[in-house]
Amino acid sequence: EAKAAGRATFRFFDPLMQAALDATAMLESDLRFALARAELELHYQPVVDADGRPTGAEALLRWRHPRRGLVPPAEFIPQAEKSGLIIDIGDWVLATACRQLVQWQESPCTRGLTVAVNVSARQFRQPDFAEHVLQIVAGTGADPRLLKLELTESMLLADVDDIIAKMARLKACGVGFSLDDFGTGYSSLSYLQRLPIEQLKIDRSFVRDMLRAPNAATIVRSIVTLAHGMGLCVVAEGVETPAQRDALCQIGCDGLQGYLFGRAEPADTILWSKIIPVAVEL
Ligand code: C2E
Ligand code: MG
Ligand code: MG
Ligand code: MG
Repeated sequence: EAKAAGRATFRFFDPLMQAALDATAMLESDLRFALARAELELHYQPVVDADGRPTGAEALLRWRHPRRGLVPPAEFIPQAEKSGLIIDIGDWVLATACRQLVQWQESPCTRGLTVAVNVSARQFRQPDFAEHVLQIVAGTGADPRLLKLELTESMLLADVDDIIAKMARLKACGVGFSLDDFGTGYSSLSYLQRLPIEQLKIDRSFVRDMLRAPNAATIVRSIVTLAHGMGLCVVAEGVETPAQRDALCQIGCDGLQGYLFGRAEPADTILWSKIIPVAVEL
């Protein structure tokens, strides 16, 4: 009878779609235990200044799944957002990144490195977000001035005063904010000027296209001019080639991040001294 039911099911549902639904359901139930089973890992991707010297790293989440291997965040963060699991996961990410900061502070060759942590929309919407972050930071003993939180434009479209209050509370304690994937969202410039952010991160898509598409290059230049005009720093994401690096430095980018300098990897395998400072001709 079960067999007959199975056949009936197949008559009404596309088997490929059914397989995709099953995979999603499986991933979701697995995700619920991923934290408890210590399957989540933070990898760190170096960020360098215009001279190629490392200034810090962005913490990027990975899920070491027992059968699927290393699962990238795009494949599970949307589900974690939907189910609310992102709150616990986000706490774990923040605490882990802060403990890493403390460890980096203890060694002369990594002292002063910053860590950037991506914040999800749902996390940021929590009414006690600011206090909660400060509690976690204090609990680890990390220097809040070395912590950067990355927000995206879409997260900032809700209640402006509430958002600014949250950011201001954290900023007063030294925590910095970057606007991630800048240029792909909808934030108006009048709004941007009110936000207590210190950095824009140029979306990887513009960096990818800037050497072959004049419009992309124009956008990159405009973002740098805009950022500097407002007293903000600007970091380019997705820098993969020396030609891109040279162009970005010429335009005046303050920071660079991308496979050219290193992919995200576990903190203990990063060879900070091997991220060679490169002479940039201007
Ligand atoms: P993002 O914050 O914009 O992070 C940059 C993404 O670009 C990372 O992908 C990074 O591995 C990738 N990337 C860096 N350099 C290059 C490059 O040169 N070329 C190319 N092709 N890609 C490069 P990843 O690690 O897969 O993360 C994707 C997104 O997932 C992140 O985008 C971020 O929005 C989100 N994410 C990652 N970790 C967390 C987390 O802990 N919490 C939350 N809420 N979101 C996270
Ligand atoms: Mg980011
Ligand atoms: Mg980004
Ligand atoms: Mg991006």
